[in-house]
Amino acid sequence: MTTRPPAEIGMSLDDVDTPALLIDLDAFEKNLSKMAESVNSHGLRLRPHAKTHKCAQVALRQMELGAVGVCCQKVSEAEALVQGGVANLLVSNEVVGGRKLDRLAALAREARVAVCVDDAGNIDELENAAAAVDVRLDVLVEINVGANRCGVEPGSAALALAQKVRAAPHLRFAGLQAYQGKAQHIRDYAERRAAIEAAAKKAQTTVSLLSSSGIGCRIVAGAGTGSWQFEAQSGVYNELQAGSYVFMDADYARNRNADGSMFNEFEHSLFVFATVMSMPEPRRAVVDAGLKSMAFDSGMPEVAGSESIRYSGPSDEHGNLDLSATNTPIRLGDKLKLIPGHCDPTVNLHDWFVCVRGGRVEALWPIVARGAVW
Ligand SMILES: *Cc1c(COP(=O)(O)O)cnc(C)c1O
Repeated sequence: MTTRPPAEIGMSLDDVDTPALLIDLDAFEKNLSKMAESVNSHGLRLRPHAKTHKCAQVALRQMELGAVGVCCQKVSEAEALVQGGVANLLVSNEVVGGRKLDRLAALAREARVAVCVDDAGNIDELENAAAAVDVRLDVLVEINVGANRCGVEPGSAALALAQKVRAAPHLRFAGLQAYQGKAQHIRDYAERRAAIEAAAKKAQTTVSLLSSSGIGCRIVAGAGTGSWQFEAQSGVYNELQAGSYVFMDADYARNRNADGSMFNEFEHSLFVFATVMSMPEPRRAVVDAGLKSMAFDSGMPEVAGSESIRYSGPSDEHGNLDLSATNTPIRLGDKLKLIPGHCDPTVNLHDWFVCVRGGRVEALWPIVARGAVW
């Protein structure tokens, strides 16, 4: 860790330097408990995605509340979390290339490690890497259930890979990865549900085909924050991988509930704290948080508690606030909480979570897998 945190434990929120990445601990804890209890009440397993937070403290809290482990997207992310004490990880992604596979296999000496595959040659390379250090890796065959990212087609292509995994002495066939990422941000409830019902059908067809060949799927994994209730009700998924629910970004808040209201299952708990650093015009303020403090791929941030103030025009270190529609007086030096559009790539821009409760800094958590994208 190279940079000092922008705050000290015990300090008042007003004194936290900016831009800083804040966690509102009350909201965050509610989100963690709500998901843990709901998944548990369905009799399913939760394996939250750690690409959202990249933080060992968060992963360990999720596991204290019953999560079986966490998902990672990259080997380096998994390495950072294992170093932070996380002992059960699924790299919910394909790992390709000798050096990466060697690192993945080495990690399995320290923690329970699983990985996804969608290619026969990759299974041979995984087997070789695992054999070289004498470990056994859990392997999920990834199927394409509509997201058109990685994954073989459901059915016979998946069966062929499962058989190949089962024949590899240092690999253990663990089941299917069937994540429908594209469905997560479908705004309309019924359309979102239909996308997951279609995905679940494809997963079910594949589970049945494997079963008729004598192959059981211990794990059928998928689900994100936008769709997890549907996977939970599907009768086929048994391990849910939602990640963003811990923070709830502005983009997820644009999804709709069944009655058409805005998606409010979880509370915003992640904020970029910013300072008004210039007031060049009476109705325009400039804050010190731009492209290097937040991700903009899912749109502009919202200003927490002030819907009439619009953020626009980010550059590296600046953003404009349009004050023409607000009565809230804004002065130079004021600090504001911004709700980022997309939580995961926002987190990856910061080294520290400044954890706040009751207006005070309660904890500082290092984002140990920040930048761990290889
Ligand atoms: C990102 C991701 C998730 C979690 O999605 P959220 O939208 O952050 O809840 C789950 N599974 C996989 C494979 C992912 O890539």
